[in-house]
Amino acid sequence: MKPAQLLLAYQRLIERERELRDDIERVESLLSVNPDVVAAEEALANVRAEQQALQLRLRESDRERESHRTRLRSREKELMSGRIRSPSELMQMSEEVKHLKASFEEKEEAELHLMEEGELAEAAVLESAERLDEARTRATSDEPTLRHDLASWQTELEAVQADSAGIWAQVPLAAQNAYLRVRAHPPVAEVDRNQCLACHVTVTSSGMQALRKGDGIVTCENCSRILVMA
Ligand SMILES: [Zn+2]
Repeated sequence: MKPAQLLLAYQRLIERERELRDDIERVESLLSVNPDVVAAEEALANVRAEQQALQLRLRESDRERESHRTRLRSREKELMSGRIRSPSELMQMSEEVKHLKASFEEKEEAELHLMEEGELAEAAVLESAERLDEARTRATSDEPTLRHDLASWQTELEAVQADSAGIWAQVPLAAQNAYLRVRAHPPVAEVDRNQCLACHVTVTSSGMQALRKGDGIVTCENCSRILVMA
């Protein structure tokens, strides 16, 4: 192979190496933290927190309702006891009892509402827990395939690295330096029908002649990539 062809082969191997590294990294992170499982865990934690907050409010409201009921009962008893003789006092107390009854009913209503919310929250927790199970099952069932892919990519990566090192060693020093000097990426471009395929500018006739003759390094006058016949 001519130096430019060696450099093209080298460049292709380097590109393959990069792809493999990306794939390996992606699968490794998927195997260590599966984003679907993480999202399902977060969702479950959120609905659980909501459920706990509701339970707390329900207990609080239960306590309030009970103390309210106790007050109401004792007032009613007092009212019925016949100990209070003054009509104005009786009137006042009966007003108070009426008021306590109304607010007790309100509290009961509110508590019923809280209980309904609590049931909904419980259903949401169950559903989220199921989703998490599903996500975990999915992750586990994907795992063998992912591990298999990972192993085959790692094997290929080692081969690609060995190949690219072998090819690089065959590239004459001047060509190696020329390759390393190119700032454009990727550094080698193929030429087809007198055109640099990277920047699509026509290669000069002297450039084409040099390319056909072939042992030296010819660069594109426009993008300065190393040219090689397609
Ligand atoms: Zn070019």
